[in-house]
Amino acid sequence: MPGTPRSSTPSVSSPLPGVTATRRQALMGAVTLSAAALGTTLGASSTSAATSAPRGPKISDPFTLGVASGDPFHDSVVLWTRLAPDPLAEDGLGGMPERVVEVQWQISQDEDFSRPVASGTVETGPDQAHSVHVEAQGLRPRADYFYRFRVGGEISPVGRTRTTPAPGARLDHFAFAIASCQSYTHGHYTAQAHLAQEDLDLVAFLGDYIYETGDQGEIGRGHLPPVEVRSLAEYRIRHAQYKTDHDLQAAHAAFPWAVVFDDHELENNWADDTSYEEDIPPEEFLQRRENALKAYYEHMPLRAAQRPAGPDLHLYRRLVFGNLVDMHLLDTRQYRDVQVADEERGDPDRSLLGADQRRWLSQGLADSTATWNVLAQQVFFSQRDFADGAPTDFSDDAWDNYQVERDAVRDELAEVGNAVVLTGDVHANYVVDVKADFDDPDSATVATELVGTSFTSGRDGVEQNPGDEVQLRENPHIKFINRNRGYVRNTLTPTEWTVDYRVVDRVSEPDAPIRDRARFVIESGEPGARPLV
Ligand code: FE
Ligand code: CA
Repeated sequence: MPGTPRSSTPSVSSPLPGVTATRRQALMGAVTLSAAALGTTLGASSTSAATSAPRGPKISDPFTLGVASGDPFHDSVVLWTRLAPDPLAEDGLGGMPERVVEVQWQISQDEDFSRPVASGTVETGPDQAHSVHVEAQGLRPRADYFYRFRVGGEISPVGRTRTTPAPGARLDHFAFAIASCQSYTHGHYTAQAHLAQEDLDLVAFLGDYIYETGDQGEIGRGHLPPVEVRSLAEYRIRHAQYKTDHDLQAAHAAFPWAVVFDDHELENNWADDTSYEEDIPPEEFLQRRENALKAYYEHMPLRAAQRPAGPDLHLYRRLVFGNLVDMHLLDTRQYRDVQVADEERGDPDRSLLGADQRRWLSQGLADSTATWNVLAQQVFFSQRDFADGAPTDFSDDAWDNYQVERDAVRDELAEVGNAVVLTGDVHANYVVDVKADFDDPDSATVATELVGTSFTSGRDGVEQNPGDEVQLRENPHIKFINRNRGYVRNTLTPTEWTVDYRVVDRVSEPDAPIRDRARFVIESGEPGARPLV
């Protein structure tokens, strides 16, 4: 794309000061350079809009949480923002007046918005914390777009996004990153700043976007409010606090994201209607779940199909990238059976996905004609024995606790071929051979699992933990473990999937450089990743 900021950004090895300057330029450049002209353009698009919405005093600086886009289709994409002049206001309403407000939006292939391809006006109000979710329609396939919002005389930063190819269209190159686990208190968003400088079609965020705790940390980034969040107002403030980070805003403004939640968007290790941490009745937990998922939706670039109803949010869905990739985004929280002790993990009735999602996934895999099938999901898929020698010891929160269903999904992945499971949760990088029989190292490798480390959770990170030696010995199908912070970049072609583990050596202080810790490649038709020097 000649002439676009993406192609003119400094190389990813640039020192962070340069990165920061470019980010600011991308976010603010258009606004500061030609605000008057932009205002005229946006104003013109709004003259035909309804003028019946209540008017009130001017709203100053409402775009403190940035902009985002998400869930691209070949002809549409979600555009997101939330108006919050005082983002941490105690009532969770972001300092907005308690009235309905009109917001104009524009999407354009030109960065100067001289010829917007779509625009409109939407209303938002306190019932949705003045969040805005626009599904911009009528877009061209596999095209780059710029978008922005306006309220009153205030214009948002400019975001960029990209549609997918037409269904079934030939696609020769697809680049995306996986990321997860961005505890605000554990680190600076250095990795997010570097991520914003990549050239990507998509970011898949695999969970723990926020943490629910009252942790104050040690680096001056204590959680607000300074308590474990439970009410709708508290979850809204927590999400707003995370979104005030300019590095996170830059990463959202640079690419469309596809997000799924894991546990900490609500509570550690929750399962369906059951708290893991507290002995409380389901009704009480479901009220908290409703609060958490409503605030989650309000802060994410999700489609109307994901708008929650009470405590339910339909999270699992599929994104299709031409003939190259079918991405199945899973929900491993809302429908799972409660965690059990190891002796019961082989109960054939236990489900992590729930019956409806399980059927939907089976059908989606069976119907797929894509080169690569991807499960974008939260918790460790492959068997992982932590015990040194016999007996065995497994995580109760991962697929190991739902062994029979895991093995059945594994068999379906083997059937479809070229299946890759993408995982977050464990704050570490792994490469894993998914085995036809996890207890038999000589059995066939039938799929690949790539586990992405945390952005920040776990603080600075290390190369490995002492216990990793045991994991590698007890689980010969695990090929690689690394515990630095960062994200994972994936570059896909019809013949190869290249995976780059990109890490930063510290998040306790800002500005650490990014480096390549490891590169692996999966050849089409040959499950399992092999290291590249
Ligand atoms: Fe986490
Ligand atoms: Ca957990």
